Amino acid sequence: MYTAVALDGPAGAGKSTIAKRAAKELDFIYVDTGALYRTIGYAAIKNGIEPVDSPEVDELLDKITVDLTFNDNGEQVVLLNGEDVSAFIRTPEVSMTASKISAIPNVRAYLLDLQRDMAKTHSVIMDGRDIGTVVLPDAEVKIFLTASPEARARRRYKELAEKGMNVNYEDILKDVKTRDYNDSHRAAAPLKPAEGCTVVDTTELDFEQSVEKIISVIKEKI
Ligand code: C5P
Repeated sequence: MYTAVALDGPAGAGKSTIAKRAAKELDFIYVDTGALYRTIGYAAIKNGIEPVDSPEVDELLDKITVDLTFNDNGEQVVLLNGEDVSAFIRTPEVSMTASKISAIPNVRAYLLDLQRDMAKTHSVIMDGRDIGTVVLPDAEVKIFLTASPEARARRRYKELAEKGMNVNYEDILKDVKTRDYNDSHRAAAPLKPAEGCTVVDTTELDFEQSVEKIISVIKEKI
């Protein structure tokens, strides 16, 4: 039997780095579902399509393929039409487009089976916005990981600046707040803590403390 950990929460709460480490320690697979929405956002940008509910987006979904694979280090690689797009989906432009395009019900439906299939064939820590509420409602462990918008913007700023990107803290804070608003106010699968989930706030926790906390919550439940 496989175990599923649903890890939801707003942008920049540290879900991906924390979950990656926790997955390694527990020998689970880490699944980053945001990368799937980013890949569709990236495809829309490349094809000059607005991220709004429209026949153009439906046509785009009909003609692309999105696949989830893992490299030799066990890291997730998302393929768009068979090509690794990991290097292109972390820009602020793709973040904002992903946030908008993920509000479209057909986009969410398109990605649902891909996500569920991963949990049928592996023990997973799946990171997203609606994993505990929609994708894996029967997950054994549900965690809602959050932190203040300022703490999240500071972390994202540091992460992008370290990659050599020319970024501005105030712009990032504005993006964080806009994405929070988009994610929690959309009609389709809005971001909200799943019933019965454990809320973990990392505002005052450093990375190691956050990993420890997540692992202890998981171990308590399984
Ligand atoms: O997690 P990440 O910031 O990479 O996600 C990019 C965007 O994809 C988010 O702003 C969110 O709108 C969307 N998303 C979603 N549902 C998920 C994961 C991500 O709507 N399960």
